[in-house]
Amino acid sequence: MKDVENNEVDVIKIAAREMLKGSKMLGEHCKVCGFPLFEDIKGNKYCVYCKVMKKREEKERDDIIEINKEDKKDTMPFYSKDTGIKILERKIDYLFKKLDEEYDVARIMEITDTIKALLKLKSKLEKR
Ligand SMILES: [Zn+2]
Repeated sequence: MKDVENNEVDVIKIAAREMLKGSKMLGEHCKVCGFPLFEDIKGNKYCVYCKVMKKREEKERDDIIEINKEDKKDTMPFYSKDTGIKILERKIDYLFKKLDEEYDVARIMEITDTIKALLKLKSKLEKR
């Protein structure tokens, strides 16, 4: 509910800003979002709301790209290669022991998948 209220405030703010720029609000409404259409001083009709939303989406997309960039930086290993491999070996050992005791099919699958992932990670570390 809070979001709807915020959106309404946004809409009023947007409309006010457009009018300050010299645009006029038309009697027509946007076919996409239903927001009143505006006409700028040059006579171009446009929907402010769709324009703002598009910009916002682009910004969000940029933010996501930024976050992904940050993630990439973090792929540098925290542990040294050998320590990492030792930890993985220990975990794989532990998982094999668990697997030996496990009789539930779903759990067996889960453990096997985890072992597979750990082995893959281990071979990746070894290659470097
Ligand atoms: Zn629109």
